Amino acid sequence: MMSLIQRRCAASVLRQSLGSARTRTASTPISLLPTRWNPLQTNNCSIATQPLNLGRSSHRTFSSGRRMASAPHRPGGPALPAYIWMTAVGTTSMIGYFYYRYLEEVPLTHRKRWIATSPQWEWQLGDQEYQKLLKQFQAKGHVLPPDHRASITVQRVGSRVAKAALKFAQEHDMAHNISKSPYTYTVVRSEMANAFVLPNNHVFVMTGLFKYIQNEDDLAAVLAHECSHNLARHAGERMSSSIVTNFLARLSLLIDPSGAIFTIFLPAAAVFRELPHSRTQETEADQIGVYLAAEACYDPRAAKRVFAAMKKGMENSAPPEFLSTHPSHESRIQHFDQWLPDAMKVYNGESDQDGELSFGGGHDRCHHVRHQMQSARKQAAHQAALREQSN
Ligand SMILES: [Zn+2]
Repeated sequence: MMSLIQRRCAASVLRQSLGSARTRTASTPISLLPTRWNPLQTNNCSIATQPLNLGRSSHRTFSSGRRMASAPHRPGGPALPAYIWMTAVGTTSMIGYFYYRYLEEVPLTHRKRWIATSPQWEWQLGDQEYQKLLKQFQAKGHVLPPDHRASITVQRVGSRVAKAALKFAQEHDMAHNISKSPYTYTVVRSEMANAFVLPNNHVFVMTGLFKYIQNEDDLAAVLAHECSHNLARHAGERMSSSIVTNFLARLSLLIDPSGAIFTIFLPAAAVFRELPHSRTQETEADQIGVYLAAEACYDPRAAKRVFAAMKKGMENSAPPEFLSTHPSHESRIQHFDQWLPDAMKVYNGESDQDGELSFGGGHDRCHHVRHQMQSARKQAAHQAALREQSN
C-alpha cells in the first residue's frame, strides 16, 4: 500500500515524465511501470536520485530517456528481500486454503462452486428480506389473502414440491444445509410474469405468471424451479461471489488510485462474471426443478410448455442473452430436451442406471398420487365456490 508521500512522489514522477514525453521521439521504448519501489527510502521524493527503470531491455530514466551510467544491469535483476517472498507465499497459501475450504459441489449437476457464507446467515437475511417485501406488498394491498383460490392452489402444489425437495436433500446428503422451516407462499397481484424465492423458504408468485400457466403441472414446474434455487443455495453463492468482486474492486483502487480501473472493473465483472454466473444458476435450477416436479408426481414435460408459452408471449421484449440474468427461452427449451428422458423415468417410477435419480416407487406410483390430486382439486374448487356464494 502506498503512503500519501509516496503517492505524491509518484504523481511528481508522472508529471515530470509527461513533460519529458513531449520531447521523446516516437521510437524511444518506454514502460510506465517502475520496476522497484524502495520502501526504506527516507527522503520525501526519490525521483531526483532514484531514476525509474523503464523496462528490462531499456535502462533509460523516465524523465530524460538517457542511458543510466549509475545503474549497472545485473542479469536477472536485483534479488527481492526475503520478507516480500514470505508475504507472497503466505498470502497465496491463505487464498488457496480459503478457496479449497469453501469449495462445494452442487448435487446432480456436479458443478463446483465457491461458497463462503453459512446457511444460517443466509436464512437470517432471507427472513429479513421477506418481512420487508411482505410489508411493501401489503401496504399497496397487492397480496392475495390465504383463502384466495390462487393462494390455496399455490400452497397445495408447493407443499408437494417442498416434500420432494426435502427427500432430494436427504438422498444427496445435504439435509444439514437446507432450512427445515415450512415454506411460505405469497401470491402478489402484479402484471409481471415472475416468481422468486428467498433463503429460508419464502416463495413469491406474481399473478402475471398465471397467463402462462394452464394447470397444476405448469405451476409445479415454476415452484420446483424456485425450490431448486434454495436447495442449491444459489443466494449464498451469489453473496460469496459478490464479496470477492467487491474486494477486487477495492483492491483496484489501491493499484490505481485514479479509479480508472475501478470504473471499468464493475461493469466488466457484471458482463463477464455475474451475468453468466446467474444464467448458470438458472439452468441448474431448471435441471434440478424438472426432477423435483417429477418426484412430486407432476408432469416434468410441463416446464418446457411453460417456457415455450413465455417465449411466445414475450417475443421482442427479452434482452439479448449475454446481457440477461436468465438464459434465453430457446436455450432453456433445448436444455429440457436433454433432461426429460431421465425425468420421465423418475415420473414413471423407473430406476436410473447410476441410481442417482432412482426415486423408485413402481409404475403406478404417480398414477395413484395423481388420482389423489384430482380429488383434492375437486374438493378445493367446491370449497371455493361455497366461499364465493357466502360472500
Ligand atoms: Zn430462477
